[in-house]
Amino acid sequence: MAKRFFYSDDSLTENSYTISSDDETDVQDSSTALTTESKEAKRRRKAKSYKAGLSFRPKWKETYDWLLCESSDEGMFCSICRTHGQPPSSAKGAWTVRGIRNWNHGAEMLKQHNSSQWHKDAVVASQHAASGRTVFGMQLAGVRKAQEEKRLKNRSIILKLLRSVYFMAKEHFPHPTTFTDLVGLQIENGDDTLKQHVESGAGNAQYTSSFSCTNMIKAIDDWILNGLHSSIRKSSYFSILADESQDITCQEELSVCCRWLVDGKPEEHFLDVIHVKATNAETLAKALTDFIETTGLDFEKLVGQGYDRAATFSGTKTGVGKRIRTRAAHALYVHCSCHRLQLASVQAAASNPEIKKSIRNDVKFVEIVLLLSQKS
Ligand SMILES: [Zn+2]
Repeated sequence: MAKRFFYSDDSLTENSYTISSDDETDVQDSSTALTTESKEAKRRRKAKSYKAGLSFRPKWKETYDWLLCESSDEGMFCSICRTHGQPPSSAKGAWTVRGIRNWNHGAEMLKQHNSSQWHKDAVVASQHAASGRTVFGMQLAGVRKAQEEKRLKNRSIILKLLRSVYFMAKEHFPHPTTFTDLVGLQIENGDDTLKQHVESGAGNAQYTSSFSCTNMIKAIDDWILNGLHSSIRKSSYFSILADESQDITCQEELSVCCRWLVDGKPEEHFLDVIHVKATNAETLAKALTDFIETTGLDFEKLVGQGYDRAATFSGTKTGVGKRIRTRAAHALYVHCSCHRLQLASVQAAASNPEIKKSIRNDVKFVEIVLLLSQKS
């Protein structure tokens, strides 16, 4: 009765392939056959088997460089899987400890094994072993690679969200609740990365709420300010400009600008709005002193102070300028040029109607120029 074998990628079980009575002879215990068979009979049997396609074909080695076959009696082995393979239990040692001898289906079985996953894994493991990496190292590298890919993807998403927040801040969007709608618009316009993030990302890590928007604005603010503060600290000298006013809620606030040198050229930026409880010289001077200290600036490098000419700032005994000079001896007080221009313009306009008319036209002209420059 014919014996049946089935072999798939990872299994070798009795079932499918039919082996003829000649095959049965071939799969018998070879030691018994060899002791009872003369050399000539063995040669004739092998020749007959080869002719019938029932023995090993040397040309298979040309196709599969991993193929090992010492004799048709022992069968075929995989040299790579023997050393680096982790065959599934269903394989029952095929290709590694038990040779394959289904010669009439040999070509097909070789092809199947070559494309099986555990053979491919063994090939990868052998390549890593050749480069000095262990299986554990290989697995660790795989985990690290996956983590790196995830990190880069998350970074890409956060960058998209930060760019959206930055756009809103620059365009003076009135409220961060618009942020969620802005992200939704980008998804509607075909941003698949954001779409996937919103649809399948963790609910507590979407970063599309107004709360997240506010936090990102703060993060951008910190990043810009840290860069400016660092630049001022590197400068040999700097000066401060400050003025106080009320906002629409009647909250008193002190706005602060700095001017410093970058590669020998002056740089000037608005840096902070400090809320103050009072507008007397002592309170304002302390606010400026705290600002300089928390920013990490050196009082020794402070060479100029620019304010309006109100006594609070300009008073020679207890004004803000005088109080700051107790810490920064070289900080010369200068009546702010912009305030002086404004005072001169008001006086000129009051003294002559034609000048008043001219200034009004000039102001309108400047407003138009500023408007056009913002839009370009
Ligand atoms: Zn193999």
